[in-house]
Amino acid sequence: MQDKNRNTDFHHALAVDYDLCIGCTHCMTVCPTQAIRVRKGKAIIIANRCVDCGECYKSCPVSAITVEQDDLDIIFRYPVRVILIPSVLIGQFPRKIMTSSIYKALKVIGFTHVYEVENSVDMVVSAGRQHMQEKKERPMISSFCPAIVRLI
Ligand code: SF4
Ligand code: SF4
Repeated sequence: MQDKNRNTDFHHALAVDYDLCIGCTHCMTVCPTQAIRVRKGKAIIIANRCVDCGECYKSCPVSAITVEQDDLDIIFRYPVRVILIPSVLIGQFPRKIMTSSIYKALKVIGFTHVYEVENSVDMVVSAGRQHMQEKKERPMISSFCPAIVRLI
């Protein structure tokens, strides 16, 4: 069965492994943009509806939705290797593991700079407020969420 997720100008990182999919429809139920159909017992992602929110990935009981990943060694092509991590990554570790140790481990595997993505939220909110005060056009939509950008 052809994966419609590959037939698009947008690159989507999510795809369905048809060997694993059991057609349970969980992903179809949670998809906020109705981008998934189940045909002949297999899920199909309709690329031009998908906003890459990841809800289907979380809902699949048999891990049939996969996330394309690059080989980590690719980072060594670049002198500056920045990793942006969500703070939930830190929260996954037991309390006895210090945040500084997690940062250190990320540097040991090859990253030169580690930043938590939430650090930029204050800047985005501040710039957004300033823009809204200066410009009166509405609505104003933040580009901070990539899923929203895809949706637009
Ligand atoms: S990533 Fe989100 S929008 Fe795309 S198919 Fe999955 S649930 Fe739907
Ligand atoms: S949730 Fe997983 S197994 Fe169920 S239909 Fe979707 S991809 Fe297939």
